[in-house]
Amino acid sequence: MKIGRNDPCFCGSGKKYKKCCIDRDIAFADSVKFAERKKADPTFTPRSYYINRVTALNDRLQNEARSEELDAELMELAGDALDDLDGASLHAFTRYGEGFLPTERRLLQALANRLWGALVFGEFQEQEILRPLMAFAASTLAEGISEAAPIDGAVLTTDEDGNLLNSSLKRAAEGEEPEVFELDIQVEGSTL
Ligand SMILES: [Zn+2]
Repeated sequence: MKIGRNDPCFCGSGKKYKKCCIDRDIAFADSVKFAERKKADPTFTPRSYYINRVTALNDRLQNEARSEELDAELMELAGDALDDLDGASLHAFTRYGEGFLPTERRLLQALANRLWGALVFGEFQEQEILRPLMAFAASTLAEGISEAAPIDGAVLTTDEDGNLLNSSLKRAAEGEEPEVFELDIQVEGSTL
């Protein structure tokens, strides 16, 4: 029997289904795509899936000439991350498998927004920052970010050719749970 949107929710909360568990069920349907990937690779988790994608695309971005095909893959990564890490779909991570820590999620969302801005709006300066952004995200996500001290951003320093020289994480103000992750880029003292 299929539950209707206006029926009492099956969880016993007394609320209508549409006001209660429907978002999580939508997310569960979304997680079917993760389940299919798990079938193909038993070590799969949504988190490892994104880290592997960021890592593989970063390797290509650092070593290959830019191409329409590579840009399209970066754009697809950004689009998928923006979908998966927002709203109801986010539950697919926590419900299905290993999810990102909040800081990691904000970092991946920030990366996706910057990639989207660069590749969809195509501003020249933004194009130049793809490599340091991806290099930072790949190494930081692979290492993991401790939640002991909330982080609300990072400052990346690059040389004039867009090679990432170093990065420093920014600690959030005391007692504040950050909502976004700010990614600032500095090139030889100037800020893009
Ligand atoms: Zn419910």
